[in-house]
Amino acid sequence: MATMESLIGLVNRIQTACTLLGDHGGGAGSALPTLWEQLPSVAVVGGQSSGKSSVLESIVGRDFLPRGSGIVTRRPLVLQLHKSEQGMEDYAEFLHLEKKRFTDFSAVRKEIQVETDRVTGRSNRISNVPIHLSIYSPNVVDLTLIDLPGLTNVAVEGQPETIVQDIDNMVRCYVEKPNCIILAITPANQDVATSDAVKIAREVDPTGERTFGVLTKLDLMDRGTNALDVLEGRSYRFKYPWVGIVNRSQADINTNMDMIAARRRERDFFSASPDYGHLASKMGSEYLAKLLSKHLESVIRARIPGISSMINQSINELESELDRFGRPVSLDAGAQLYTILELCRAFDQIFKEHLDGGRAGGDRIYAVFNQLPVALRRLPFDRHLSLQNVRKVVSLADGYQPHLIAPEQGYRRLIESSLNYFRGPAEDSVDEVHFLLKETARRSIGETQELRRFPTLQAELAAAANEALERFREDSKKTILRLVDMESSYLTVDFFRRLPQEVERGEGTSSATSDDRYSEAYFRRIGSNVSSYVGMVSETLRNSIPKAVVHCQVREAKRSLLDHFYTQLGRKEGRQLAQLLDENPELMERRQQCAKRLQLCKAARDEIDSVSWSR
Ligand code: GDP
Ligand code: MG
Repeated sequence: MATMESLIGLVNRIQTACTLLGDHGGGAGSALPTLWEQLPSVAVVGGQSSGKSSVLESIVGRDFLPRGSGIVTRRPLVLQLHKSEQGMEDYAEFLHLEKKRFTDFSAVRKEIQVETDRVTGRSNRISNVPIHLSIYSPNVVDLTLIDLPGLTNVAVEGQPETIVQDIDNMVRCYVEKPNCIILAITPANQDVATSDAVKIAREVDPTGERTFGVLTKLDLMDRGTNALDVLEGRSYRFKYPWVGIVNRSQADINTNMDMIAARRRERDFFSASPDYGHLASKMGSEYLAKLLSKHLESVIRARIPGISSMINQSINELESELDRFGRPVSLDAGAQLYTILELCRAFDQIFKEHLDGGRAGGDRIYAVFNQLPVALRRLPFDRHLSLQNVRKVVSLADGYQPHLIAPEQGYRRLIESSLNYFRGPAEDSVDEVHFLLKETARRSIGETQELRRFPTLQAELAAAANEALERFREDSKKTILRLVDMESSYLTVDFFRRLPQEVERGEGTSSATSDDRYSEAYFRRIGSNVSSYVGMVSETLRNSIPKAVVHCQVREAKRSLLDHFYTQLGRKEGRQLAQLLDENPELMERRQQCAKRLQLCKAARDEIDSVSWSR
């Protein structure tokens, strides 16, 4: 069964965790949802010296807050009360002084002053950075209280003109939150109608359902007057009745009147008072403390489902974000090497998918081969085997003596020089495929999710892939040029044997000039014979070039793109491996943040789960 203490204690623990994570609410700079805003707390609001700090102290039952005249409270104080087991000694802890236990509460007060001055300087300035203080005692109930600077209407010596507005803003920042319970402190020796506390409370909580009116200094009222109009709700009504309080006066403080004596005196004041006697059971600091924790309990109870679902949602979001980041890198060299190899494999896998299908890439290589016949057809054989050129080449090859049967040398020269033209398109195929492979490697690196957080490894992989592809290109070029050379170094004799053999003298044709050894038709035939031989070779190369390119570049890229890299990797030392896994620092930071927050959320979820909400 959920007890009041366990409920409020839960909230306290979640709040502490939030604070440790730098989550003070207000969402300053944090893109993550804040738990803080989900949790209820109690803030004291009132004019300067209205008795705010005194009320807080008497709820706690210990003296520890700086009190007095003037602007004493200059930073918000977030005070968490933790009920400890009977017989335990009271102690306090500050968040900014972790692990230091204060058992001397006057030292707590000094520390609050020192810590306030540390941020604001020894001035009258204020700061909205809260001080976090926890108090452990068997004599308190679990509560989170916030002491705030007093509302004021004028700036005093050393304060900027904006102070009135600054304090107003700071106070509103706390009390505006729908889960903030407001203790509106008004001194009884002041007219409620002029109370700043009531004014602000009415504005932020018009229905009065989260405001408790607290009337202090009942002992200081003029003789013959009483505060019954306020206490009985006739002056101004919140949803809950006003609670009257008698704190220690400055004189009591000066003479070190202790809390127990002060409480006893307060009780006596009410029970002995002819005015307030009938209300005695609903007056005083102790009653106020009980009222508050009871109220908090119901508020928390109502909010638990919301908090719970928010926590679960945060856990889901954080976990999927962490998944995207991947786990942090191990410090062990063996594990690092393993990680690098895994990453390389992931990349290699994607690279292969691009080539083999499944991802785009392979089809573009096919398109290169598809274009090859077109490129081959475009070669300028018409010009090269024109009548004029054939005649020139054949005549040059014959030299001083015209050939007898067939222009053997002429044919060879014409064929060799024609075949040279194939080098261009063949080399282009190699280069285009090289370009596509490089592009595919680059894309694959980008598409390897796991690699995303390792910019150094990405760059190294890209360099290694490019280097390997460059080697494959060299090899591929050599091979295809060799294919072309092979075609010209040994001609297919049969092809010519099948051609009709005839020798024709250059006689009787009208166009023949004196140095024409053969007729035009004769040269034309030679040209067309060479042309059909070249056509046959072109047919062969059209098929063998893609084979060579695939064999030397594509197949090699699939088989051994990273082989060289792996060899180099094997020689690297731990430090060099760590460098490869150098993560983007922003990402590391973000991951750490997420992990911490996830831890908090899970702890909070476990806390909530551990309490049964049925009653
Ligand atoms: P704060 O500025 O609102 O935090 O007010 P403090 O708690 O510092 O109190 C201001 C002064 O009023 C101190 O000297 C207190 O002793 C005094 N004071 C506060 N409450 C009472 C009260 O109920 N009766 C008497 N007599 N004095 C009080
Ligand atoms: Mg104060």
